[in-house]
Order: sequence, then C-alpha cells, then structure tokens
Amino acid sequence: MIYQASNKRYHSMKYNRCGNSGLLLPALSLGLWHNFGGVDPFENGRAMLRRAFDLGITHFDLANNYGPPPGSAEEMFGAILKTDFAAYRDELVISTKAGYHMWDGPYGEWGSKKYMIASLDQSLKRMGLDYVDIYYSHRPDPNTPLEETMGALDQTVKQGKALYVGISSYNAEQTAEAIKILDQLGTPLLIHQPSYSMLNRWIEQDGLQDVLQENGVGSIAFCPLQQGLLTNKYINGVPVDSRAAKPTGFLNKDQVTEELLNKVQQLGSLAAERGQSLAQMALAWVLREGRITTALIGASRVSQIEENVKALDNLVFTSEELDRMEAILNS
Ligand code: NDP
Repeated sequence: MIYQASNKRYHSMKYNRCGNSGLLLPALSLGLWHNFGGVDPFENGRAMLRRAFDLGITHFDLANNYGPPPGSAEEMFGAILKTDFAAYRDELVISTKAGYHMWDGPYGEWGSKKYMIASLDQSLKRMGLDYVDIYYSHRPDPNTPLEETMGALDQTVKQGKALYVGISSYNAEQTAEAIKILDQLGTPLLIHQPSYSMLNRWIEQDGLQDVLQENGVGSIAFCPLQQGLLTNKYINGVPVDSRAAKPTGFLNKDQVTEELLNKVQQLGSLAAERGQSLAQMALAWVLREGRITTALIGASRVSQIEENVKALDNLVFTSEELDRMEAILNS
C-alpha cells in the first residue's frame, strides 16, 4: 500500500536545537543498528520507520556496517526511502558513519582519508542518496592524525556529500581537539554521539558534556535503554524474542544479572509512581535539563516506538526523585 505520512506528524514531538547550529532534532531519534538488516523481516522494519515518522521522529541514524550483513541496513533504508519516503526527503535528517571494519585490507576501517571518503561514497550508493545530513567518524583512530580524519569529514561537506559532521565515542580531550581543527577548517562540529544511560555515565565523569556545552556542540545519546536492560522485559527471564537471546550483537544473557534485575525492579516502581514505564523514565532521565539534544533509541517492534515517544509527556524530575534514583543505582 502506498504510504502517506500522517498529517498529525508534527503535533506532539518536541524538537531541540542541536548545539549552536540552525538544525533542530527530534527529542527522540531512531537508530537502525539492530532489526533493519538483511536477516530481519523487511516489513517489520518498514512499519517501524513509517510509524516513527508519523510520530514526528524525523531523524534516522545509520552506519556503513549496520546489518547484519554489514551494509544491509543502509540498503534496506534506501529501498524504503525510494518507495515510501521519496516525497519527504527534505523532512528527514539521515546520518551515517564510518570507523568500524567494513571491508578487507588496510583501507576498510578506522579514520584514514582513504577509508572515510570511500565509505561515504559506498553508503550514498546503498541508500540511493546524493548527500547525508550528518556524516560521522564512528570512533577515534589512535594511529591516524586527527587532522586527517577531520579533514576527510570537512572534505565531504565541501563536496556536498554531507551537510554536517559529527564524531562518536571520542573522549573529552579528543573532542576538544576535533572541535578546534574543524573550526579552523570552517566546518564546525555539529554533534557528538556518545553512549549514555542511567547505567552508563562516562560522559559526566570524563567532562565530555562540559566540552560540548562550552563549545555549542549538540549531543545524541546512544543506547539510552542500555540495549533494553532499562525496561521491564528481563524481569522474568530472557524472552526468546529479545536482543539478549539473539546469537548476534553485543548484549548477552550474562549481562542480565540478579543485581541488575533488583535495581530494574526498584527503578520500575519509581517510574510507575511518575506514571511512566521504566523505558519512558530512562529516556526522560537522559533528556533531563536539556543537556542532551536527542535520545537515540532502537526498537524491534512498532509498539516500543509508540511507548517510548510518550516519555516526552514528562521530562521533569523532582530532586527527591533524582535522589531516590541515585540511591537505587548506587545500591
Ligand atoms: P536502546 O538502548 O534504545 O535499545 C533498544 C532495544 O531495547 C530495542 O531494540 C528493544 O530490544 C529494546 N526496547 C526498546 N524500547 C523498548 C520498550 N519500550 N520496552 C521494552 N524493550 C524495549 O538502543 P540501541 O542499543 O538499539 O541503540 C540505538 C541506536 O544507537 C542504534 O540503532 C545506533 O543508531 C546507535 N548506536 C551507535 C553506536 C555508536 O558507536 N555510535 C553504538 C550502538 C548504537 P529487543 O530487541 O530486546 O526488543
């Protein structure tokens, strides 16, 4: 059936300015790391993309290697762009990245100009796009001068293949340096993509959040639900249709410990008092005080996206709630 986007798609989503830039991003963005690969049911992925857009999620995040197999998430997204979203390209912010292993040999990963430029060309081909909105260095490369990796990002913008650039998983010090280099090149850093959740607070301790704030750079937090651990799904064991039960990926059953479930249960009770599910409270927490531009969720089914966008109905925490949360997390 031909897809027609909902005419209510901009009624309830919140849009936040990305740092000091002109770009607004939805408070929730959708990532295609899992569940959009060649091994996944195509129609389920399509239904999630359609529903997300109908709910005002305008930002979709990809990378060269998302699948499995690597590249297949971009191919799948490209196919749906063509059939469903062609009329809406200018309403979408599409990102991709390069940094992890993508092809064999010395030029298929990390941060050389050779790899970064070739990878974006491949991504554009797979998605059937002339340009992406944001192109990222997916991880810092300890063996390539930062000037070279940032120079490659800058070049993609000057070539018209990307509108903005980002970096992912760079620490505070590397980020400050990247900001300086990109400023000199005239392509300011738009956004940083770090992992961040109630169970993973490195960006607070490392000083990254301060560096971003001081320099007017936006942020998009990945794995805000800690891959599903910050939901109620594992309370009664590992369901067969969950990420932890799958043979591929980076979440395994060993991470679902008694200690974690104990915390999850207590956090779930606190969320219920706020009138939220645990997933909703975990997302609201990431977005609290407006220091994170957008929370980058994943989903395996439409109902999760519907549940998660309702987090935006209550993003405010009392200091008593925050204290109780810290006590649970530190117990
Ligand atoms: P999340 O922490 O949001 O985990 C998503 C998973 O949690 C879903 O696939 C689903 O798992 C479960 N889930 C989501 N909502 C609910 C709900 N309401 N109730 C119960 N379970 C729920 O994020 P991801 O780990 O998926 O990462 C999100 C995105 O971040 C990626 O797609 C990618 O774009 C980006 N990313 C970037 C990285 C980087 O290096 N820059 C690294 C990793 C991710 P289930 O299958 O069990 O249902």
